Amino acid sequence: MKDLYIDGIWLDASAGTRSEVLNPATGEVLATVAEAGPEEVGAAVEAARRAFDDGPWRRTTAAERGRLLRKTADLLVRDREELARTECLDTGKTLGEGRIDVDDVTNVFRYYADLADKDAGRMVDAGSATVVSRIVHEPVGVCALIAPWNYPLLQMSWKIAPALAAGNTAVLKPSEVTPLTTIKLVALLAEAGVPDGVVNLLLGDGQVGAAMVEHPGVDLVSFTGGYATGEKIMTAAAKGVRRVALELGGKNPNVVFADADYETALDYALTAAFVHSGQVCSAGARLIVQDGIHDRFVADLAARADRIRVGDGLDPATETGPLVSARHREKVEAYIRGAVEAGATLCAGGRRPEEPALRNGFFLRPTVFAGCTRNMAIVREEVFGPVVTVERFADEADAIALANDTEYGLAGAVWTSDASRAQRVAAALRHGTVWINDYHPYLPQAEWGGFGRSGIGRELGPSGLAEYQESKHVYQNIDPAPQHWFKG
Ligand code: NAD
Repeated sequence: MKDLYIDGIWLDASAGTRSEVLNPATGEVLATVAEAGPEEVGAAVEAARRAFDDGPWRRTTAAERGRLLRKTADLLVRDREELARTECLDTGKTLGEGRIDVDDVTNVFRYYADLADKDAGRMVDAGSATVVSRIVHEPVGVCALIAPWNYPLLQMSWKIAPALAAGNTAVLKPSEVTPLTTIKLVALLAEAGVPDGVVNLLLGDGQVGAAMVEHPGVDLVSFTGGYATGEKIMTAAAKGVRRVALELGGKNPNVVFADADYETALDYALTAAFVHSGQVCSAGARLIVQDGIHDRFVADLAARADRIRVGDGLDPATETGPLVSARHREKVEAYIRGAVEAGATLCAGGRRPEEPALRNGFFLRPTVFAGCTRNMAIVREEVFGPVVTVERFADEADAIALANDTEYGLAGAVWTSDASRAQRVAAALRHGTVWINDYHPYLPQAEWGGFGRSGIGRELGPSGLAEYQESKHVYQNIDPAPQHWFKG
């Protein structure tokens, strides 16, 4: 199958290299896909460059680009089941989660379709009756869009929808672990009528991503993934002073006060930590519980974690699926061993499930550690698996200090029935999203991104569009006459 898309043509890798894509629930090969080499990277960036510099795309109106995104949204609705199923097979998430992802992606396309022609810039009062001064928004140029494996379709849509709305051209690279729905998304964009060269697709690992970032034809890199990769990308993008937007990891505090609605906070603590087996950048992996309810909360959390039905995402009885790969599971297991050695108390999970049917998949039981302290690696580092650590706190100041004691700053939550405290704590938290008495919701119209090591820039909302725009000041003197600054 030809699955690289360059200048409007589906291609194989010129070197003929292909890689296997596995179903993490079974370990079986789902598909093989082409792996781009340096030649394809060059061709894709040059196609995007030509389409930006010379193609008809530059002359499209914002309203036309909006229509194209709306058409793509309609195609996503048409192919919802196929996309959800593919995402489920590729990532291991449940079919229900796959459907939610496709619906969210559709909403993101519609949001940016609507936003595309809403802001034509602004007039500036230049303080003179003979001057017209205005600020206009223009596209940045050729964008390299690089996505991770946990929400492949969703993360890519947060980039490509605003990039196109703003009039850019792009080269996309999904994770080598989960490329399948992005291939389909590119086919839908082509079907919707995106001109040749405007959207190009490369497949392959970090080497392909690195070659994209290093290519001098790229004006902007938008990356979602791990901190270490983000640091490399920022360093590479410094050459030529290219723009970067980075959505990186998180180690997100979920703070529960004793006056919270106990059953709701408990229920959400499970969702926060174990949806998609914790492979969520904003997962509530750091539970911080007040003294008065701590022991009961831990016991109830562990009991409920033990009852979570782990399985194949296609099985309707499954509540959470496998980890994405054998290698990733080994990494999470190493963290679990480290936590036990560091003295944390294992209250649930910490092992692979015993059901014979799950033997070949990359499963791990939901895991709860109590007695955790802020110096432990399992508390400080992003584990990105079905593992929640519990710390305890005495009072509000203590809770805030713990919740902010992280190098990351992506998201956090506070549970309390005291409305004033909720606002005080929300104001004090140094995280890009704060939920009060809730966990995980995000909205296309609300900015998403991180403080600290969780990244630079924002996706979603108006800022998510601004990432892909340059501002230009156009100043016109409507009554020009010699100035005679120089007298001679
Ligand atoms: P990763 O950093 O290993 O890879 C992400 C992407 O970057 C992949 O496509 C990969 O091929 C590519 N890549 C790897 N090395 C590269 C290089 N040197 N140059 C350019 N591209 C390179 O991340 P992952 O393991 O796929 O994803 C998990 C991480 O993503 C977690 O840290 C998670 O928190 C983060 N994440 C963040 C958000 C957010 O919104 N902040 C959302 C989802 C995931």
